Formats: sequence, C-alpha cells, structure tokens
Amino acid sequence: MSFSPPTTVLIIGSGVFGLSTAEALSRRPSFASTTITVVDRGSGGGEGDENDFPARDAASIDSSRIIRADYADSAYAALADEAQTFWRGTTKPADRCSDEDYIGGGGRYTESGLIVVADGSDTVDADRCSGKTQKNGMYYVRESWANVQALAAQDPSLGPKLHELSDAEAIRAAVGTGGTTGDWGYLNAASGWADAAASMAWLLHRVQATGRVRFVRGKVASLEAKNDRVVGVCLENGQTLTADLTVVATGAWTESLVAGDLGENRSLTGTLTATGQVIGYVPLVSDDEHAKVASMPVVLNLTTGLFVIPPAKDSRELKVARHAYGYINPSKEAGPSTPFTHLDDPDLAIPVEGAADLRRALRQMVPLPGLADRPFTRTRICWYTDTPTGDFLVDYHPDMQGLFVATGGSGHAFKFLPVIGDKVVDCVEGQRPEAFAEKWAWRTAAAADKGAPSWSTVVTEDGSRGDRPGRLLREELAKEEVA
Ligand SMILES: Cc1cc2nc3c(=O)[nH]c(=O)nc-3n(C[C@H](O)[C@H](O)[C@H](O)COP(=O)(O)OP(=O)(O)OC[C@H]3O[C@@H](n4cnc5c(N)ncnc54)[C@H](O)[C@@H]3O)c2cc1C
Repeated sequence: MSFSPPTTVLIIGSGVFGLSTAEALSRRPSFASTTITVVDRGSGGGEGDENDFPARDAASIDSSRIIRADYADSAYAALADEAQTFWRGTTKPADRCSDEDYIGGGGRYTESGLIVVADGSDTVDADRCSGKTQKNGMYYVRESWANVQALAAQDPSLGPKLHELSDAEAIRAAVGTGGTTGDWGYLNAASGWADAAASMAWLLHRVQATGRVRFVRGKVASLEAKNDRVVGVCLENGQTLTADLTVVATGAWTESLVAGDLGENRSLTGTLTATGQVIGYVPLVSDDEHAKVASMPVVLNLTTGLFVIPPAKDSRELKVARHAYGYINPSKEAGPSTPFTHLDDPDLAIPVEGAADLRRALRQMVPLPGLADRPFTRTRICWYTDTPTGDFLVDYHPDMQGLFVATGGSGHAFKFLPVIGDKVVDCVEGQRPEAFAEKWAWRTAAAADKGAPSWSTVVTEDGSRGDRPGRLLREELAKEEVA
C-alpha cells in the first residue's frame, strides 16, 4: 500500500528517539506539508527552560555515553559503524567547515578507544531447570570481536585499531592505570564516548533552527482515542493536542503511559519494561590523577556489566556505572515498572549493593590511591527501556490506528542518535530496514503471558548484562542509606 504522509504528527518525548525522529521528519520531502509537534514533560524549570527537551532525568542526558560498533549482533554493529561516521564528521567531509557542523565536533565525541572484556568461559550458560541456553558476557565479546573483524575486512583503516587482549596482563597493559578486569577481550581504538547532554543540545538547536517543529512543555496524562484510533493526547493541565499520527517515544515511561490508556490487551505488557541502572561520579583530586585517567580508554566488562568512562579535558569527575539487569520499580497495584529519578526525589541515592559494586569496578580498573573509597560527588539511577532481546521497538501499534511507538533502547541506543531518526521515519513510511524487519517489529508473542506484569517477564537476555534480574528498587533502597 502506498504511504500518505499525515497532516499532523505529534511526538511524545524528546530523547534520542523522539528528537531524532523530529529532525528526520523536518528534512524529509514527503513530510514537507506536515505539522510536527514535540511534547515533553520537562524538568520542572521555568518557561522556556532548554532543559525541558529532553528532561534532565531522561536516559539521553548524561556526561557520557559509549559510542561503539562492538556488538554481538551484526545488524547493530553495521548501524553503529554508520553512526560513527557522523560522530567523527567523516560522512560528508566537505560539509565540515567548523566544529559546529557535525554532531561529534567541539569535544562532543572523543575517540578514546574501548576495551571490552568478559570473565570465564565462552560457552553459553545452560539453565539446568528449563534446559534453555543463555547468552553470557564472553559469548557477547567473542561475537563482537568477530563482527568488528568483519567490519575491518571492509575498512582497512579499522584493522590496525583492533587488538586482541588474551589475558589479564594484556588487559592491564591496555588499561594503563595499573588495573585489570576480565579474562579475555580486545581493544577497539576506533570506539569512544560522547558527551550525551551536549550532543542532545546540539541536535535540539539544529531542529529548532529549521523552524519546522513546535516544542510544547507538558506531561501527557493520557492518549486520546476514538474507537480504534488514537487522535492525540491530553496533558496534565487539561490541554489537548490532536494529531493524525502520535509517536510515543517516552523511553522508560512508555509502558506506564500506554498501558494506562489502552487497556491490558492493547498495552505493551510483556514487550518492554523500565529498569534502573546505577551511576557514580568520583572526584579527581589532582592534575596527576586526572592525567592518568583522562588518557585511559573506556573499560567495559560484560560479565559484571561494570564500566568506567574517562573524563573530558575540563571535567574533574570519573564516571563509573553498571550495565545490569537493573532495578525494577513496580507501581502501585503491581502495575508497570516505573522510573523513579532525582526529579521525583532530589535526595535519591543509589542502593548500597550498587554503590559497593561500583567501588569494586574502581578497585579493579582504576586502582589509584584512595580513589575507590572516596565519597561520590553525585550518583544517579538512570532508566533503561528494556526488551527481552535488547532490540528496539519501532512500529505501529497492531490494533490502534494513528499510534506509532519508537523506543526500547535497552541501554544501548544513544550511539545511534545521528542515524536512528531516519530509520524511524523509514518505518513510519512502511520501509523498515531489512536487517531490522523482525527485530524492531511489535512482538505480540511476548504478551502471551497474560496478566503477568512486564517486569516479571521481560528480562534482557542478549548476554551483555551484569548482576542478576529481579532486584526491587524500593527494597534495595530500604536496606541502608548510602554516602
Ligand atoms: C545509565 C545508562 C547508560 C547508558 N549507556 C549507554 C551507552 O554507553 N551507549 C549507548 O549507546 N547508549 C547508552 N544508554 C542508552 C541510551 O541512553 C538510551 O537507549 C536512549 O537515550 C533512550 O532514549 P529515549 O528517547 O528512548 O528515552 P529518554 O531519553 O529517556 O527520553 C524520553 C523522554 O520522554 C519524556 N516523557 C516521558 N513520559 C512523558 C509524558 N507522559 N509526557 C511527556 N513527556 C514524557 C521524558 O521527559 C524524556 O525526556 C544508556 C542508558 C542509561 C540509562
């Protein structure tokens, strides 16, 4: 069927998925006559506060996010490889007159290198009860190594940047701080990290400059439906926004929004869930200490999920975090797992066990005197939108017309910021990229477990997650206050 562009598009959420979709729509000729609106709940600041798009507790906002093509899945490896050309500004070099002309300019992208390692064996773990096999960290790293080798076969400049690290001592030499982690892995000197908040601000200014997109601050209280068609939204302040096509890009808040509105059979139950992840920032107390960590690569252990990202030149904080199954936070009456952030409680600290794990990472990876025991300058619980396979969800709702969902970042979507908007709009036009035809499709099978809340059935099993599933945020927070 041929595609007819809608007259009005309303995008809810201005994180990676929402903002990049708005940007792609504003450029695409087929949407030249379409009115585009983005609404975000914002951060609670004053009128015109730029911190509203996206909100400061959005997953897309932080000091840093890893930019890597190091994926166990070859489709994501190829897409990330494409995204990296934008981060480096090599996509259209002629268009690159100044640092402001490309997303990775002006220090927004740093190619520090990435060490990716795992512990133990490269066989998959077997679940003895069910007989199912389960991917593990070493599986992920081995597959990822194979995929970057395949990319290097097509790009001769990549090969010399890949170095196998065959044991703990080789890993120690590559880390460069005296620390080590993992049994086997590799260094990819062509990976790095981006200043997430600065990159989002850069993209926001680009979108605003087109004059094509109207930005509205407001929390969507409900989707407005007429029979089997979503016709817009109602905001908490009572205002309604109507649209031919409503794109839900509300990240970890998606399930609570869609579930609440469309009823159990039309919700996202079994498809995605919100999981909270711990981050800590450690102060760097001397120039010498800063110099030692500023020159290290990103270090990521996919068995423990623990990782360290080096600081920017002018930052005096080292970031340590955990890519884990995460905390779930079921809302009242066992409803969906719902984000609970520093905007809900400015005094929110991370649970004791999470803080202890972050300190374990520092002891292993950055064993500089006193660093691992220093009080954190700040901590954060940041929310993933997890799907069972770690795939994104970019599709029309199967039952409700006029409703499209672009989310399911599963803790790894940031790097795709320069390219994901175009792919989302391709899907809106019914042209889903072949490599993602099934991966990004609405998964009705997952909803088979009727009545069971998502947080009990959705566990991301792509092999990359540390710790264990099923930790309840409120139980963990109650255990003890953390410094
Ligand atoms: C701790 C952490 C580390 C990560 N590390 C990496 C990494 O190293 N590399 C990488 O590539 N990716 C990483 N990711 C993943 C990446 O950041 C996310 O996949 C991506 O940012 C998700 O974008 P989003 O648009 O789905 O959601 P978000 O950025 O969370 O945006 C959702 C927006 O929707 C708005 N919203 C929600 N509800 C409503 C409502 N009812 N009304 C109006 N607005 C609403 C929110 O205010 C928010 O602004 C990490 C994520 C986290 C949390």
